Amino acid sequence: MWFTKFQFMKKSFLTPGPSELYFTVEDHLKTALKENICEVSHRSKIFQQTFLHTVNELRTLLNLPQNFHVVFTASATEVWERIIENLSAKHTYHLVNGSFSSKFYEFAVQLQRQALKYQVPENQGFDLEKINPPAETELICLTHNETSTGVSMPIADIDAIRKKYPEALIALDMVSSAPYPELNWESIDTAFFSVQKCFGLPAGLGVWIFNEKCVAKAQALQQSGQSLGTYHSIPSLLSNAVKNETPETPNVLGIYLLGKVAEDMNRRGAAVIRQDTNYKAALLYSVLEKSNVFKPAVKEKKFRSQTVVVAEAAPENIKKILEEAEKQHIIIGTGYGKLKDTQIRIANFPTHSKEVIEKVANMIQNFS
Ligand SMILES: *Cc1c(COP(=O)(O)O)cnc(C)c1O
Repeated sequence: MWFTKFQFMKKSFLTPGPSELYFTVEDHLKTALKENICEVSHRSKIFQQTFLHTVNELRTLLNLPQNFHVVFTASATEVWERIIENLSAKHTYHLVNGSFSSKFYEFAVQLQRQALKYQVPENQGFDLEKINPPAETELICLTHNETSTGVSMPIADIDAIRKKYPEALIALDMVSSAPYPELNWESIDTAFFSVQKCFGLPAGLGVWIFNEKCVAKAQALQQSGQSLGTYHSIPSLLSNAVKNETPETPNVLGIYLLGKVAEDMNRRGAAVIRQDTNYKAALLYSVLEKSNVFKPAVKEKKFRSQTVVVAEAAPENIKKILEEAEKQHIIIGTGYGKLKDTQIRIANFPTHSKEVIEKVANMIQNFS
């Protein structure tokens, strides 16, 4: 039919999620179908092996200590809710600098916690001196990479918060950066991501990581009579995870593909992925700094995200570059929410090749 040609025109998605699929996904999908992955029972040996494989590959990739558990949810959005339900009775504290960190805070408010926030404007990072959770704080919620504005938290700042507040649990949203950041896991009690960002997978799977301190907190809350939710409470997830199973019929294909892509990434090595990410980000920031039209939206270099590069410009130029890119079959992300007309967001995930990032850098450089 006449439209077939357009329908199947391959495009590069440099959008910050969903994004371009990791380049090995197509082959893994075919293998999954051949191996009946979408048909087997989630109580079968094949599923248990798949679950264990994915968890082990993630442990290697993230350099995760043994005292952390890995479980699967429907999304990162779900994990926001689960963390509030399972790891706090009353007092949560949130760093907010954009739409995603704000939603984490809003969830705590909706779940009737006494949630406090330290908020800074979009495209800005946090002043360590002003992070002051009160003594009764049970849970500190951080966002490593604020996807809506391209602001990242320096790892050293996360470590400093832990040093200053050793009692509270620390939760880290790393949805649009994992597996890029090299974390010190002693500084974090729980972390999470979904797979359609840096892992280059179809959406519909969340990964939730938590340590023994979180397990103890959830148990204590449960014993005090608090509801932790139902099937995806920490005790329920954990009692299934020890058997390499999930409470519900999960996204088996998603779990399978995540294991395969994590294995591919391990073959490449986390260090090489970090190096490539830094190289591509440096290229983008360097042309943005020299441009007369576009500017990096995040002014302070130490807060600039390496995985979501955000630029600002006049609305007519934003519109023009998005169109120019599309002519070359490259889809660049628009600004988020109210920043839609004045910013662009360029995803720089492990799947994005140096070639495509160089193309975009040239486009910015030669823009007139
Ligand atoms: C995308 C995103 C989320 C939400 O992920 P879902 O898969 O839509 O639930 C949460 N936090 C950040 C930082 C994100 O970028």
